[in-house]
Amino acid sequence: MRIAINGGHCPGKDSGAVGETGLQEAYVTHDLMQLLSYYLQQANFETIQIQENELQEICDQSNQFGAELFLSIHCNSAESRDAQGTETFCLTTFSEAGNLARYIQSQIVSSLGTVDRGVKVDRFYVLRHTDCPAVLIECAFISNSDDEILLASEQGRDDIVHAIARGITDYVAK
Ligand SMILES: [Zn+2]
Repeated sequence: MRIAINGGHCPGKDSGAVGETGLQEAYVTHDLMQLLSYYLQQANFETIQIQENELQEICDQSNQFGAELFLSIHCNSAESRDAQGTETFCLTTFSEAGNLARYIQSQIVSSLGTVDRGVKVDRFYVLRHTDCPAVLIECAFISNSDDEILLASEQGRDDIVHAIARGITDYVAK
């Protein structure tokens, strides 16, 4: 099975959200993308890593690869520094993407103990213009100090990526 992994934002061009310590979302998502690709390949999935500034370019690369699943990885941010936790987006709830989103969301919150903000519906560009079940994962809030510590740590990133990979294997097994 072919899986496209998009690290949200683009290091050097678009930092994405920035935490209190200066941690940039684009660097976190780059690392998560690489790690996830590695673990999925170990589990015999074919992967492509896509991190681009242009949203259509991301969709084109995924579609040309023939991706059967598309994952966009992000870190969340809010004006209130109290906001924290994990949420996973899909275009519609009752769909393959909705199922995938629920498996991933459930693995992340149960294994990391992040606040469960649930599976949500949104019309993000990359969800609308990719040709396969697509989800966008907001792993944790870079604007919250507890979540930022998680996102900054090697162990935290490794745990996030393992949880996402288990969510994918749960989805594929059903
Ligand atoms: Zn983002």
